[in-house]
Amino acid sequence: MLETTIAGSLPKPAWLAETNKLWPQWRQEGEALVEAKRDATLLALKEQEDAGIDIVTDGEQARQHFVHGFLERIDGIDFGRRVRMGIRNNRYEAEVPTVTGALKRKGPVHAFEAKLARAHTTRRLKFTLPGPMTIVDTITDAHYGDKVTMAMAFARLLNEEARELAAIGVDVIQFDEPAFNVYMDEVKTWGIEALHVAADGLKCKTAVHICYGYGIKANIEWKKSLGAEWRQYEEIFPALAASRIDQVSLECANSRVPIELLSLLKGKDVLVGAIDVASDKVETPEQVAATIRSAMKYVPPERLYPCTNCGMAPLDRRLAIAKLWALAAGAAIVRTELGLV
Ligand code: ZN
Repeated sequence: MLETTIAGSLPKPAWLAETNKLWPQWRQEGEALVEAKRDATLLALKEQEDAGIDIVTDGEQARQHFVHGFLERIDGIDFGRRVRMGIRNNRYEAEVPTVTGALKRKGPVHAFEAKLARAHTTRRLKFTLPGPMTIVDTITDAHYGDKVTMAMAFARLLNEEARELAAIGVDVIQFDEPAFNVYMDEVKTWGIEALHVAADGLKCKTAVHICYGYGIKANIEWKKSLGAEWRQYEEIFPALAASRIDQVSLECANSRVPIELLSLLKGKDVLVGAIDVASDKVETPEQVAATIRSAMKYVPPERLYPCTNCGMAPLDRRLAIAKLWALAAGAAIVRTELGLV
């Protein structure tokens, strides 16, 4: 009970990539880059294990960005044709590639780091992939002419990839859908349907991560504009509760999400964000415990997984590691209170 996990990403070491950036440039090339990704992945696992995280990830050390890391290995996308455009309903600008032809995987996308991680940890392993709605919000289209058709094409590729990851021995496959908090109507009309295509036939656990974004300036400004109570989840949780996805990862620490909205996820595992990724302050274990206790009023402890609000990719590395320790220590306090240890 109260097993800890993380949203997915951890900061990359300075010898692998630029630090404190969402779209960092690699610091190595060719074989040296492959080796550096390998080393960083092993360190990410070790840091999580040492901190006491129960369900670990590869830290997303082998991909540049959580969306584009997947897109780089897809045929039909021209990375030479980059367009600067507003994403997440114009919240911030990104330079995105263009879909110019039918989408097809060039081969396995993440098998390298998934096999590596599986071989080097005995803990349960979670692996993250971008969700179809978030992908089509982070790319421009010169081929399909219809967003939903393109999203379904991506969903089928994600499903091919997810099935291979499950066969490698990954225990949880999580689709990252920050766009679900932006296009709430579309979640209900096609977003969940696209997730079902991506998760079709998977024997492992499936999860969806829905947050208010990384701790970057544009997101912090956006959150200030959302008012005293953030009720985006209220619109989408009932549909998610009715979906075939097993787990929902959400933002809770230092947020204005009314905690009672968690009751809308009846029957689902809830990965409750108890670590703020937009703050340079390390939570105390007691603060983490307080977030877990408040979530437990609405989610039974056997369905509750203390987690981070979002990925920690752009954070300072030592800060992120300290936050991992705080997360595990906070969960331990509540486990002790429940008489579980
Ligand atoms: Zn997130």
